[in-house]
Amino acid sequence: MESNGEAAATPHAVFLPFPAQGHLTPMLRLAKLLHARGSFRITFVNTEFNHARLVRSRGPGAVRGVDGFRFETIPDGLPRPDRDGTQDVPQLCASARRTCGPLLRELIARLGAAGDPVTCVVADGAMTFAVYPAEEMGIPALIFFTPSAGGVLGYMNYAELVRRGYVPLKEKSYLTNGYLDTPLDWIKGFKNVRLRDISSFIRTTDPDDIMLSINKDQLEDDAPCAFGIILNTFDALEHDVLTAIRSRLPNLYVIGPISPLSHRIPPTAPSSSIGSNLWKEDTNCVKWLNTQVAGSVVYVNFGSITVMTRDQLVEFAWGLESSKSPFLWVVRPDLVDDDTAGLPEEFVRDIEGRGLLVEWCNQEQVLAHPAVGGFLSHCGWNSTLESIYEGVPMICWPFFSEQPTNCRYLCTEWGMGMEIGSDVKRGEVERMVRELMCGEKGREMREKAKEWKLKAREAIEPNGPSFVDLERLVEDLASFSK
Ligand code: UDP
Repeated sequence: MESNGEAAATPHAVFLPFPAQGHLTPMLRLAKLLHARGSFRITFVNTEFNHARLVRSRGPGAVRGVDGFRFETIPDGLPRPDRDGTQDVPQLCASARRTCGPLLRELIARLGAAGDPVTCVVADGAMTFAVYPAEEMGIPALIFFTPSAGGVLGYMNYAELVRRGYVPLKEKSYLTNGYLDTPLDWIKGFKNVRLRDISSFIRTTDPDDIMLSINKDQLEDDAPCAFGIILNTFDALEHDVLTAIRSRLPNLYVIGPISPLSHRIPPTAPSSSIGSNLWKEDTNCVKWLNTQVAGSVVYVNFGSITVMTRDQLVEFAWGLESSKSPFLWVVRPDLVDDDTAGLPEEFVRDIEGRGLLVEWCNQEQVLAHPAVGGFLSHCGWNSTLESIYEGVPMICWPFFSEQPTNCRYLCTEWGMGMEIGSDVKRGEVERMVRELMCGEKGREMREKAKEWKLKAREAIEPNGPSFVDLERLVEDLASFSK
């Protein structure tokens, strides 16, 4: 076992996030929560590419670090992409797995030699290889899975799905011939889940598909080596799924929703200047929302990774226009797979005054705004939790990864979502938006969303289950330095 310097009195956590917005943000929030305790030192490791994006979007101050909170960078092993935006997820997973382990080992050794020994590693659920360098150096590692617990349970069953012959798919036609509707009743913890609701990386015909093998490595080999598993959810929301995960990975810390917990850090805290947004925030949209009637605005945002075709963009556009509801639509510069074509000019002209288009916003602020009455979303886990926390019902257009699982639970178990077909058509967009904003189903969903909002808030009250688990996590992490 290699040495990591002298025995330490100060807890020092190294965070290794996966370099995508939906991972970076919850990881940074946990790091800031620890740092705010005053007793933790934090080293937050970004990839060089993402770190440069943070500097561009937020200015150097956002990643300069403060006393006891430093940033380090490592390469991700991929060639520099031609355009700014989220990198290809499977390629990044594979490359990080190949490249980053030895770099983490070197970093831990360097910090130890400089008299700042590392006492624990908190690795992202897509960077689980970190358990091995940590173990070699005698440092406990924890894994923070940033998707829903349902998403994680799906990944935990990838290898079993392969063993039972469900995947890889026999041929491409299985994507459309109803095969994906096969129920998966045998997966303990899931309710009414079908093959199509499991994380989308199973939709492959390639037996050597990189994501099938990586997920098996992450969940069957790496995760059991971790001291514990951190999840950004709350017990009332995913109780049965959490029980099923716990039967294989017993030491769970269920600490969600983490974002509002982190908002309790006083604005005067030294880490308050540190931010995680990879795009520049538009500041006008809140002013615009202030001019709208309470509960009247449809908020539309497909997160940081979704890329749609121009046809899909246009169908959403005209569907929103015909719904006659006011809307705030975040259209990232890289939302469409074709750089040359944006929204039709007539659309932009027609919606003036009733629709606002921006490139990126402070989503939590938007969802908390009283004018917002519904959310058309890709169902990324952070967006889903943020909508639950604010009690905003959703129209779900899952794009990839574990978003179909989130969509399934939103629509069937939690009663606050309705799904729009993947082959999106303007008429359906219009009908769903009208139903969400003015229909009976929309009213029922709004009631359900209010119930979940209360439960989410209860979870993070002092003595609420997520609050209690966060305290246990902090104590356990601190105990490693003794
Ligand atoms: N987000 C934001 N402004 C935007 C779009 C997204 O602040 O205009 C944030 C959002 O609040 C969430 C994260 O980016 O915390 C996106 O994560 P999610 O898991 O929802 O989706 P992903 O981007 O990973 O697909």
